[in-house]
Amino acid sequence: MNFVLHGHSVSPGVTIGRAHLVSSARMEVAHYEVPLPGIEAEITRFEAAVDKVREELTEVGKQIPADAPAEFSAFVDLHAMILNDPSLSRVPKTLIRERHCNAEWALIRQMESLVGQFDAIDDPYLKERKADITQVVERVLQALLGRPGTVAPVPSEDEANLIVVAHDLSPADMLLFKQHAFGAFVTDIGGVTSHTAILARSLNIPAIVGLHHARHMIRENDLLIVDGLQGVLIVDPDAIVLAEYQLRQSQHELERKKLKRLKKTPAATLDGIPIELFANIELPQDMAEVLENGAQGIGLFRTEFLFMNRKSLPDEEEQFEAYREVTRAMEGKPVTIRTLDIGADKALQTSASSASVTMPNPALGLRAIRYCLSEPQMFLGQLRAILRASHYGKIRLLIPMLAHAHEIDQTLALIREAKDSLDAAGQDYDKNILVGGMIEIPAAALALPMFMRRLGFLSLGTNDLIQYTLAIDRTDDAVAHLYDPLHPAVLQLVAQTISRANRQGVPVAVCGEMAGDPQLTRLLLGLGLRNFSMHPAQLLTIKERVLKTSIADILPMAARVLRSTDSRRTQELLQKLNA
Ligand code: PEP
Ligand code: MG
Repeated sequence: MNFVLHGHSVSPGVTIGRAHLVSSARMEVAHYEVPLPGIEAEITRFEAAVDKVREELTEVGKQIPADAPAEFSAFVDLHAMILNDPSLSRVPKTLIRERHCNAEWALIRQMESLVGQFDAIDDPYLKERKADITQVVERVLQALLGRPGTVAPVPSEDEANLIVVAHDLSPADMLLFKQHAFGAFVTDIGGVTSHTAILARSLNIPAIVGLHHARHMIRENDLLIVDGLQGVLIVDPDAIVLAEYQLRQSQHELERKKLKRLKKTPAATLDGIPIELFANIELPQDMAEVLENGAQGIGLFRTEFLFMNRKSLPDEEEQFEAYREVTRAMEGKPVTIRTLDIGADKALQTSASSASVTMPNPALGLRAIRYCLSEPQMFLGQLRAILRASHYGKIRLLIPMLAHAHEIDQTLALIREAKDSLDAAGQDYDKNILVGGMIEIPAAALALPMFMRRLGFLSLGTNDLIQYTLAIDRTDDAVAHLYDPLHPAVLQLVAQTISRANRQGVPVAVCGEMAGDPQLTRLLLGLGLRNFSMHPAQLLTIKERVLKTSIADILPMAARVLRSTDSRRTQELLQKLNA
């Protein structure tokens, strides 16, 4: 059946390919009562699913190579043990028999009860086993649903033609996808500046979020067209539509190729003002794309991604290697390393952070610098690793989510302590390393002098600044239509931060998604911004905008956009500015 779904565009481009359904089976569980005559059949269905998973685990165990680390088979044994434990293999049957729950519902109920018991345990090792229980349950659910697709993507020979269709993906899931080369991503929920979306953009393939019913309506292997520019997903297109999109796809590829010619062109406006175009990265492996797109520096290294999807945190040595790798690759160009911004939608897997996941409001909780200051030993390890890497290039240290003067002071004291310990050990580092702060909480933008007195540079994190100014959860597509970078309050905060910093001679950048949006390039230039940091794939598009802009010419129109308090008028003025 041919149909079209509309969502929010995350990353432009066109992909034509086959649907690959990826799911967290838990989200698809139906809850219903089984009528009395069907109870025994339901129990048999449950038993068959458990048997199937038992066979699967035996098969996985057999395929482990003889020289694989011992943990591999220990892990499979543990899952088999969990599966065979009466609490999973027997109690759900009692729930089916006594409460008439369908098999999936019974299993989920029992899982929630077990996981709740684990939450109450203090032992970090036992707490970790919670994830194992969940994974085993997921396997049984998949068997019950009889559907293809697992939480982790199955590698395929022809991944570029696969379009991942999911209800939701966490930033941690997206991180796993970085190891694959899928053609596009679409999800039912999520906001365009959520970290999941940012990662999808960093994969440089078309992506759409907020499609609402895609996961439910699309079947494995359906032919799909993802129009990442318009945020449109076409399912089972007819021949005419398909031909039209094949044309658009090749045009898009041609434009990208043309842009590549700008790689070495210096970024300057028509009236000769140089503009710095920096890249945002999540992992050292992103460096290839950074260099390919001619970035003049790294404006944001989101180091938290080194800490995700793993059971133990990277130690100082491992971090040092990662920071040094990036710094060396940049050959003396600036590398802005942001300290751990964990929390909210970027959760750690370790027990210490599982508390933060269950916080009543994680975006307002122990996130980023707040978390780091509450874990000074971990923070000191990161600071030492960054300082040590600073010996190999031009590192700048960036602190996220600052709101209070005492947070800056405490952080500076810890940096001092890290430096002292390196001095004592005779280790080299850049003694003049610059320390800057993210301006991403309205309080920071409003109390800017407090920041400028203490810090060497500023970076506007507009993703969070918009979220906190407008009280819009950036991950929630139900309020995505209210997430507005052009809201007068947001523009005032951005404009004031840039102009005050410029007046005081404090370097200021924008590293939120606004910096990579070509519709906003001229506006930001008109507000005085001279340093933009964005995902590497956007660099040449933004450079092209810069090259076609005369600052003297756009100033009056940018000022009018800033003064506008009517959203329709703002849009009209922006269009004129971009004409
Ligand atoms: C921001 O908030 O704009 C930002 C760059 O940080 P992150 O997206 O990682 O929260
Ligand atoms: Mg932020």
